[in-house]
Amino acid sequence: MAAIRAAQLGLRTAVVEKDAKVPGVGLGGSCLHRGCIPTKAMLKAATLLDEAKHADEFGVKTSGVELDFPGSRGSATRWSSRGPGVEYQMKKNRIDVHAASDASTDRAASSSRRGGETALETRNVLVATGSVPRDLPFLRADAPRS
Ligand SMILES: Cc1cc2nc3c(=O)[nH]c(=O)nc-3n(C[C@H](O)[C@H](O)[C@H](O)COP(=O)(O)OP(=O)(O)OC[C@H]3O[C@@H](n4cnc5c(N)ncnc54)[C@H](O)[C@@H]3O)c2cc1C
Repeated sequence: MAAIRAAQLGLRTAVVEKDAKVPGVGLGGSCLHRGCIPTKAMLKAATLLDEAKHADEFGVKTSGVELDFPGSRGSATRWSSRGPGVEYQMKKNRIDVHAASDASTDRAASSSRRGGETALETRNVLVATGSVPRDLPFLRADAPRS
């Protein structure tokens, strides 16, 4: 969003994104690919399953209702790829996209072009690399429950 806004305000803009060329992922960050949207699709599947299992309480007979987990996961991925897409937004706003996971904002490193590296010279850098979960010592995610 910041890149799009910067481009709309007239700045020549580039985005460096490690997932840019990862098959099945791409631009969009956690919300689109791992967070908000896929999890809401999976919650919807859980709600539908629960409603179908309790439908007889309302006089609706169902049988053979079960969760198809790979199917539900696939649906979550499909929801993420609906719409015009972030790549389209980048093209539309003439934003250059670079795929890299080891981007450096070091002035010396960015002033020369070395083998396989692309140097972007810029006055402004916005770092928006998100966050990673941190386990609490007494409460680890995915740890066995007692
Ligand atoms: C399971 C889950 C469910 C969620 N549900 C909701 C919800 O319902 N509603 C809501 O408002 N929020 C939700 N969130 C939170 C939401 O996803 C985040 O708040 C949001 O994605 C943060 O955006 P961000 O741009 O700061 O970081 P991110 O979306 O993580 O984007 C950071 C980007 O930087 C890239 N990057 C990181 N390091 C580098 C590097 N070294 N070089 C190049 N690129 C790099 C990453 O690949 C990523 O694309 C959820 C999160 C999770 C995990």
